[in-house]
Amino acid sequence: MRQWLASNSLARLKQLSSSITIALVFLSHNIMADETSSLGSNQPHNVNDKPYVLLISIDGYRHDYNKVHQPKFLNNFASNAATITQLTPSFPTVTFPNHLTLVTGLYPSNHGIVANRFYNPTLGRHYALSDHDAVTDGRFYTGVPLWSLAAQQGMKSATYFWPGSEAEIAGFRPTYWKRYDGRVANETRVEQVIEWLKLPETQRPQFVTLYFSDVDSAGHHHGPLSQQTHDAVNYIDKVIASLIEQVNALPYAVNIIITSDHGMAQVADFERIYTDKLFADDEALKSRFSFINDAAFSLVRAHGNNKDQDLIALEKLVAATDGLAFYRKESIPKHLEYDFNPAIGDAILVTHDHYITSSDAKPGVKGKHGYYAEVMPEMNAILFAQGPAFNQQASIAQAKNIHLYPLIAYILHLPITEPIDGKIEVLSPLLKP
Ligand code: AMP
Ligand code: ZN
Ligand code: ZN
Repeated sequence: MRQWLASNSLARLKQLSSSITIALVFLSHNIMADETSSLGSNQPHNVNDKPYVLLISIDGYRHDYNKVHQPKFLNNFASNAATITQLTPSFPTVTFPNHLTLVTGLYPSNHGIVANRFYNPTLGRHYALSDHDAVTDGRFYTGVPLWSLAAQQGMKSATYFWPGSEAEIAGFRPTYWKRYDGRVANETRVEQVIEWLKLPETQRPQFVTLYFSDVDSAGHHHGPLSQQTHDAVNYIDKVIASLIEQVNALPYAVNIIITSDHGMAQVADFERIYTDKLFADDEALKSRFSFINDAAFSLVRAHGNNKDQDLIALEKLVAATDGLAFYRKESIPKHLEYDFNPAIGDAILVTHDHYITSSDAKPGVKGKHGYYAEVMPEMNAILFAQGPAFNQQASIAQAKNIHLYPLIAYILHLPITEPIDGKIEVLSPLLKP
């Protein structure tokens, strides 16, 4: 099978992007055998070499932070890397939905993690990133994360944190994984990743993830352009510099992908919209709704016996509110790709330039994300990649983050086994010809 994969990169390419089963791809191999590969005949690596991918997420690293905050190592790394200038996150542009998108190639409504907090009516359970029982419950997740795809095909993986990595999904967890604890020093995370990569070959993971939260936290508390965010960026820059120095000293080559889940906008001056105040004096109507608010959007659920009528009433109230859009679940704009999942609720509220909250919530933060990237380019993220698979001169101006999954699967020689939203063609220009 590996030989077949190496002998026909077009078949692999089509296979990865085509959302069909392995069996069908074997069939297509014969049909396409004479076609010329758009990736060229040279494989990005020797067939006998095992491919490795180290995927690093710097939470909340905005697309322009290299320019704005001038981190020495990351600027240097990006200048000699395959890059996506603006990696566009999926809606809603928050942490869990987008980390899952990066490792499943699916939009949030298709991988099931539709927000950082939501209610799944099929399971009758709430999900929240801070709820350990929920994040480790595999029933919330659909799709095949890269570590599960690897495990299905006998490849080892390791995660030093990644949303979803603590749950059994598609039958597997990563071979090595950690229970999330934001207090673990970044230097400890780096040490462990290097230890994993130094394991004897039979135990060594070929797909490894690493996660840093400092830049996101500073962006929230102090704003994206603050001195504190500048310091966080430059601190993480040093941590990653030390990591990469050690990775480059390994006796084999590793593909290193540095990315982020979303950016950050300055929202300190955004006017607040309080969902509990939308109803004026109509306490009865108010009591028949619940809202899960996340500044840029709100998931709305109607509880009454006449949901339809109540939703019409709410829509009218929202129409009279500045800066707020109301969409029934069935009529969410197509470009948000946010649909067909009961966990979204009955409707959503979306804003471009306000801050949705409730009057009893804690005071809001200075920086926030969650807004959709078309109206707020500050939501865009980064991608810089170096390694034997990449053309380190290649650059793509803008691409959606659904496309990373087929790229990584391709590099790892892992056939994709289930339908995905991403397509290999979009990011294949970043690969060596
Ligand atoms: P957000 O509210 O979208 O800014 O979420 C960012 C926060 O998510 C981080 O500051 C972490 O506290 C939290 N987080 C990130 N990864 C995980 C994880 N794997 N498990 C639990 N919480 C996480
Ligand atoms: Zn995040
Ligand atoms: Zn955040």
